[in-house]
Amino acid sequence: MIDLHTHTTASDGSFKPRNLVKTAKEQGLQAVAVTDHDTSAGNREALEAGVDFDIEVIPGVEISADSPWGAVHIVGLFVRLNDDEMESTLRELRRFREERNRKMIKLLVDMGIPITMEELLMEAGGELVGRPHFAALLVKKGVVQSYQEAFDVYLKSGGKAYLDKKRLPTLDAISMILRAGGIPILAHPCTLRQKDANQFESRLKSLLDQGLRGIEVYYTDHSKGEEAYFADLARRWNLLISGGTDFHGSVKPNVILGRGFGDMAIPYEILENLKESRI
Ligand code: AMP
Ligand code: ZN
Ligand code: FE
Ligand code: FE
Repeated sequence: MIDLHTHTTASDGSFKPRNLVKTAKEQGLQAVAVTDHDTSAGNREALEAGVDFDIEVIPGVEISADSPWGAVHIVGLFVRLNDDEMESTLRELRRFREERNRKMIKLLVDMGIPITMEELLMEAGGELVGRPHFAALLVKKGVVQSYQEAFDVYLKSGGKAYLDKKRLPTLDAISMILRAGGIPILAHPCTLRQKDANQFESRLKSLLDQGLRGIEVYYTDHSKGEEAYFADLARRWNLLISGGTDFHGSVKPNVILGRGFGDMAIPYEILENLKESRI
């Protein structure tokens, strides 16, 4: 079994890369990909841990891109680390994020909720602050009772302190991954399917025209029906198949590494096919 979509403390997960890899091994996984938001910083430690714990580690990244239909998440697998162009693009995305964060702090302070960047950086424990860190801090300060309440009241799209951040167009996100030697995969395709199959398929078609190579057939939130639909589509359209849990540790405590809500099992063969496509 494998898990090709996970987050570490390098972005908004709660497991350090080394601990994530160790846990993957303990869960009986044969391979794990680290796909942090807007940063490749967790990959080096994860790769070293892969050697120590004898488990295959795939370097990756996840980009929240802009499309005519809203945010679209693209996972890049097998990206080259230290690729100058990719790193400079990721730095720019982190700058957009910091700008958004500073403005969100100001909105909260103006509402009478004292919160500082220093506190958020402490909460994040890495270089990247995301909304989950805002949520955790709001809980700690007693502003809200729960992580979910923090999102529902303040942080979700349309929430009292929510601000959108500047994103790369999907074409640029896909191209960046391809130029860094990676495979661009549509993450959680369920979120792009807002109406019917026709709508989803025309959206997917335009992403494929931009260079997208595959979709996450296996994903924590997918029903068996969705999984079957995406698998069938991948076969008919000759798309690569990927899958992962979107594990975030304590940030999403009901999602288990490699197992999703408990019943996921992604066969190693999926990774073999992805590797073959690179030759
Ligand atoms: P950011 O990248 O800072 O915009 O934060 C995005 C992250 O926030 C996602 O990866 C989710 O983990 C989390 N998130 C977004 N919307 C919600 C929501 N409505 N409820 C709970 N968590 C959310
Ligand atoms: Zn995340
Ligand atoms: Fe995502
Ligand atoms: Fe994710």
